[in-house]
Amino acid sequence: MAPHSSSPGPSADLLVVGGGVMGLWAAVMALRAGLSVCLVEAVRIGAGASGGLLGALMPHMPDRWNEKKALQRDALISLEAEVARLEAETGLSCGYRRCGRVMPLMRPALVERALKHQADAAQHWPAAYSWRHLPQAAHPGWPAPSQAPDGVAVETLAARIAPRALLAALAARLRADPRCSVIEADGVAALDPARGQAVTASGLRIGFSACVLAAGVESFPLLAPFLPAPAAALGQAVKGQAALLDAHVDPERPILFADGLYIVPHESGQVAIGSTSEDWFDDPLSTDGQLDALLTRAALLAPELADAPVLERWAGLRPKAVGREPMVGQHPDFPRLFALTGGFKISFGIAHHLASRLIDEIRGEALDLPASFHLSTHLLLVT
Ligand SMILES: Cc1cc2nc3c(=O)[nH]c(=O)nc-3n(C[C@H](O)[C@H](O)[C@H](O)COP(=O)(O)OP(=O)(O)OC[C@H]3O[C@@H](n4cnc5c(N)ncnc54)[C@H](O)[C@@H]3O)c2cc1C
Repeated sequence: MAPHSSSPGPSADLLVVGGGVMGLWAAVMALRAGLSVCLVEAVRIGAGASGGLLGALMPHMPDRWNEKKALQRDALISLEAEVARLEAETGLSCGYRRCGRVMPLMRPALVERALKHQADAAQHWPAAYSWRHLPQAAHPGWPAPSQAPDGVAVETLAARIAPRALLAALAARLRADPRCSVIEADGVAALDPARGQAVTASGLRIGFSACVLAAGVESFPLLAPFLPAPAAALGQAVKGQAALLDAHVDPERPILFADGLYIVPHESGQVAIGSTSEDWFDDPLSTDGQLDALLTRAALLAPELADAPVLERWAGLRPKAVGREPMVGQHPDFPRLFALTGGFKISFGIAHHLASRLIDEIRGEALDLPASFHLSTHLLLVT
């Protein structure tokens, strides 16, 4: 709701709305490009989906190759250097490791598919990364042999990152820069992109040359007033639940992945387990029996997890845009208004790349992303 009165606040080249992984990378990339930035976060940095536990950075399957898979491959590769740069700038660890991924094969047909993926990866991935079939797992019990009668598929492009550590490093990078102001606990309540002005819930008036909406699932209602006519929603929230175990697992182990179940070893031996994918839910932030079922499956796949204490149960809402792909770029009718959202299940691997391309667009270049990602393409689907 718009406040009744407003008082003058900061002005910046770029207003970033939302302190999740998308908004934070946008702010960092803008500062590197020489822009001044004001980042406004309604609650606190990481209050949305980005403040979770999992941090799996997994490539798409290397078959049926397309430009979206190529983009994600390139982003997953370039993230390593981006994280190293951020860690050097801030002195903070992001808990990143290119750990790879192991997948149990339950049927002979899956061996054939793994061999096909091996050939596909050789064709589409750089030689440094591979997809292979192995008769048994390199780390005993990861997965349990009973769960992998036909061996395992192993790929070496996947990585993991500690979501909260990454956000802390990005936020530290912003706070250390005198050209950036970070406002928390005060969301954008009213937006006037034609005049380059926003007003926060507390009544702070912020001037901007460009505004990036990176408010996760809230981006869709925030964009709604700027549709040419009443239209269907620009996206939806898909709930996910995850848990963190105190499992004392070797942090060098690969991600264990089977049928949508992720088991992600992190530094200090903690292991994240996820995730549910729920289109319908009553309470966006509660956890329930669906998470218990995931934990049971995880213990079957990796029996050493069975007795590990649960440190945290967590739920969040993923932003899924109407066109299913990320939603990025300039609004065709409001040149100062830009979107950076819709990363759905893969935001952590691509946010830096999307943010960099978006900042290039804000500085006058054409948006160098697949057309299916462009905000203008998504708008066509609802108007
Ligand atoms: C259980 C679960 C597991 C996941 N696992 C992975 C994974 O392993 N790998 C991966 O890549 N992705 C994963 N995801 C998806 C990923 O977390 C999301 O895609 C990503 O966090 C979205 O980031 P965002 O910055 O777009 O949105 P968010 O992180 O939701 O950030 C949006 C921010 O905007 C703020 N905001 C809202 N309205 C306003 C306003 N009016 N003014 C100012 N601020 C506002 C919110 O408070 C919030 O902090 C997972 C998601 C879930 C739920």
